[in-house]
Amino acid sequence: MKIRMFGIALLVFILVGVAIFMQTLIRQEQKTSLRDMLNNGSRLVSLIALHPVRDFEARRRDFIIKTLIESAFRHDILYCFINDRNGKLLVALSPGQIEAEIPTQIQTNSLAAMGLLHQQFKPVGSELNIHEFAKPIFENAEKTGTVRIGLKEPFVSIISMERITLTAILAFFILSAAIIAYYGLVKALKPIERFLGDKLDTPECSAAVMGNTSKNFGIEPMMEMFKTSIEVFQDRQEKIETQNRELTSRLGVLRFEKKKILNVLNSINMGIIIIDTQDNVGYINDYTLKLLNKARQDLIDRPLAEVLQHEEIHSFITRQQNFEQPSGNYLETTFSDLVPEETYRVSCSDLMDGDKALIGKIITFDNITREKENARAVQAFTAQLSHELMTPLTTIKSYSEMLMDGEVKDNETQKEFYNTINGETARLTLLIRDLLNLSKIEMGSLLLNQERVKSDGLFEDCITAVEGSARKKNISIQRDLPDNPPTLVGDKEQLKGVLINILGNAVKYTPENGKIHFALSEEDNMVIFDIRDTGYGIAKEDISRIFDKFYRSSNQQIVEQQGTGLGLAIASEIVSLHEGEIKVQSEIGRGTEFKVKIPKKEFYLGKE
Ligand code: ADP
Repeated sequence: MKIRMFGIALLVFILVGVAIFMQTLIRQEQKTSLRDMLNNGSRLVSLIALHPVRDFEARRRDFIIKTLIESAFRHDILYCFINDRNGKLLVALSPGQIEAEIPTQIQTNSLAAMGLLHQQFKPVGSELNIHEFAKPIFENAEKTGTVRIGLKEPFVSIISMERITLTAILAFFILSAAIIAYYGLVKALKPIERFLGDKLDTPECSAAVMGNTSKNFGIEPMMEMFKTSIEVFQDRQEKIETQNRELTSRLGVLRFEKKKILNVLNSINMGIIIIDTQDNVGYINDYTLKLLNKARQDLIDRPLAEVLQHEEIHSFITRQQNFEQPSGNYLETTFSDLVPEETYRVSCSDLMDGDKALIGKIITFDNITREKENARAVQAFTAQLSHELMTPLTTIKSYSEMLMDGEVKDNETQKEFYNTINGETARLTLLIRDLLNLSKIEMGSLLLNQERVKSDGLFEDCITAVEGSARKKNISIQRDLPDNPPTLVGDKEQLKGVLINILGNAVKYTPENGKIHFALSEEDNMVIFDIRDTGYGIAKEDISRIFDKFYRSSNQQIVEQQGTGLGLAIASEIVSLHEGEIKVQSEIGRGTEFKVKIPKKEFYLGKE
């Protein structure tokens, strides 16, 4: 129904359009033919007026008259009158009695005219519009006659074949354009309708859109649908823009977080390689790159087998993948081509995404060389400690048994035995004190008994403690004391322990007849105890490790000496508690120098 209405409306629209078009066309044609008629009239009358009057006399005018008659037919001339100077009619070409129908006023005006004259009139009793053109004939600058021609105003017929054809073509094109536009619009709206899909299914949309589209499809509902679609579109766009903004900011945060995580992974003191489910390397941290001595861009996206040429690790990962070993298992291995001395603990764990789906594996390399060495050192220490404890205990036990059994009768020998038992007990006491100190330090419960300590007194006490053993090896101890020895603040007994350990080491690790130089000085508010020996010296690579617990050099001459490897570890902790420092310089075979620096701090005493 609506479509028919639309069709009728379209037809009316086209008809009105065509009528207006025809009207305009007729007006235009009328204007053009009138203009042509006026031009023709003026031109024709001027042409005739060029002839002298005598050419129109009875004996000479045949040719001209013939020409005039031809022109009359061609130009729709209604009449042509030529008068002489007295108004006498020389030539009269006209149908019937037309001259009598020309108003006298028009005739008089034309005959009196001295130039081209155009007049318009309606013959009596006729609706015909006639245009008279008059022009005088001159001969030797004298008016000898007048030419007058009358032309009918051209009639433009409404029914013209050309116009009808043109109008029909126009109507056809308008109709075609309207139909194409209509179906084009319907087609253009279809994808929008489809795109909006479920949106248009909502109650409010279906009321406004779908109801109209299915039942009352026409221009108005179509426009309504178009409007609604655009609104839904705008709504969608706004939502997308908001989501876009949110996503952009979330992406920024994620990028920042990712960078942070990568920074953490890169600064971690452990090798990390992340592989995908195809065993291609997705991430590799700086530590691993340094270990493998490779550039990141050469390894990313490469198969793991290519990146890490290590049979043992690959078979470990394969076993893990095949569940041939517990998941928490690890592999202890070395990279013999890269860092043969270092031991690594390799572990491999599954990497899952948020939905617990396997996305790859993470392989870690932990350098456990130090741990292993420490474990070895602990083992060695336990053995050493047992030995250190057993030796004096065995001596004490056997000597006391012999004394109790009355096997030693001689007084002198008995005294010697008692002295030995006493000495060994003292050694045991020292060892146990070291162990206690160490455990106190490790538990953080060693409290310093701070007091004013006269450095020269401390200095002398330390020498006295080691003098005996030095004498036995014929080692001379050279003293170097300032004129005004400084006073410092600290735990005298603990500091004494530190210095005796270092001086005792100097005696222990210096061969017979060697020299020890012990100096006391002051610099930058620090009291400096300098102990230099001419002993075996310490290898460069060992210097950083001599303060480690239980560490003892593997040098045979040093191993032969009794020791626990605890002395310097305790010493460095105690010096640190005093906010001081120990520095070592040594050369194998030439000797060693220890510098113990303790801040004086005397001005702060009592304020702390
Ligand atoms: P200990 O002397 O009981 O072994 P220390 O902790 O006192 O333990 O010393 C640790 C190690 O440092 C020693 O075993 C030794 O190898 C080395 N060392 C310390 N002092 C000297 C020194 N004066 N000369 C050579 N080596 C030394």
